[in-house]
Amino acid sequence: MEKILLLLHTDENGALSKAAYEAVESARGLACALAGSTWSVGLVGSEVQDSANAIASCGTGRFLGVAGEEFGPARYATDAAAAEALAKVTEATLILAPATSRWQRALPGVAARVGGAVDTHIAALAVQDGRLSAHRWYYRQRIEAVQTRQARPWILLLDSSGNAWSGEAGEASVETVAVETPETLRRTTVEGMRAPRADEQTIRPDSDLLFVAGAGWTKKQPDGAVHTGEAAELILGFVRRAQASLGSSKSLVDLSGEGHDVLPFLTHLHQVGQTGSTPRHPKGLATCCHGEEPHVVGWRFINERRAVNLDANCGWAHGKADVLYVADAFAVMREVLKLLG
Ligand SMILES: Cc1cc2nc3c(=O)[nH]c(=O)nc-3n(C[C@H](O)[C@H](O)[C@H](O)COP(=O)(O)OP(=O)(O)OC[C@H]3O[C@@H](n4cnc5c(N)ncnc54)[C@H](O)[C@@H]3O)c2cc1C
Repeated sequence: MEKILLLLHTDENGALSKAAYEAVESARGLACALAGSTWSVGLVGSEVQDSANAIASCGTGRFLGVAGEEFGPARYATDAAAAEALAKVTEATLILAPATSRWQRALPGVAARVGGAVDTHIAALAVQDGRLSAHRWYYRQRIEAVQTRQARPWILLLDSSGNAWSGEAGEASVETVAVETPETLRRTTVEGMRAPRADEQTIRPDSDLLFVAGAGWTKKQPDGAVHTGEAAELILGFVRRAQASLGSSKSLVDLSGEGHDVLPFLTHLHQVGQTGSTPRHPKGLATCCHGEEPHVVGWRFINERRAVNLDANCGWAHGKADVLYVADAFAVMREVLKLLG
């Protein structure tokens, strides 16, 4: 009989993140599918009662909490100590956690401490013949593996599923688990967070729209000149106003290596495609991008696709986009920005 433990930590506002709610739904589903299993939720944070209340009706048999000022910020030593204590108290055989940077850092070490095993990037959990198997991607979502393990406890770090638990809040009864925090665990102090301004961050996985810029933005235009400055203004102006996520073709991000006039805000992290990323967004708009197969293969999780290209015979016209606007992307985006105000 499996004993499931779901580990959650509070975020910087003392609440549960979207990833945490998705992990609640995964744990709930797993507990239902594994006959005879029990499941508990272990919460870590400076204060955990409010978070437990928020998921009071999720169906868990037991809430446990490791709480205190020293457990508020992300810190390997205290996070690992808290997770280890929760694993031991619950005698968990399966430990689930959302793949936050905090748990990704702490839980592999916890697996070693409790003599178990850990797997990251779990995309889905399945149960067959009473046995858990975990689905995970390899090689940037090109190979999907279905894995099982004998080792227990088995720690599974869950990637975003997009399927968050939602239910009534209530009054949860939380058992306190005491964890000693001697000086050696608190040697690292967290003085604050340094993050780029929200509008400097152009890769936004949660955005409804992917905006792809292709190499055409930096090529000679019908007037015989390149207009990289205006291209940068139009692209960033749109991405900021629409809060879209910015993607790029390989040709565009490779240009800097070839000494061309480039768009400085694009890096290889923006590259979408066979050797780039495969983002998930409900909609995508490709501009000045030819729509070649090695690029479009990165669009497999984009539902509604549109493209703007001067060439009526570009790749997008061959069944790769739902709508192709045969037009000058500079003119189109100028007009779109006017409409957005
Ligand atoms: C093994 C392998 C892996 C690859 N992996 C990737 C990958 O991961 N991602 C990727 O993107 N590519 C990848 N490629 C490269 C890919 O095949 C294409 O070369 C690349 O996607 C082309 O980029 P592009 O469409 O931006 O540039 P181009 O092919 O140069 O197209 C530019 C387009 O801009 C249009 N244009 C120009 N001006 C305007 C304007 N004013 N308005 C509208 N349209 C305009 C032109 O009509 C043209 O269609 C890979 C290739 C190989 C061989």
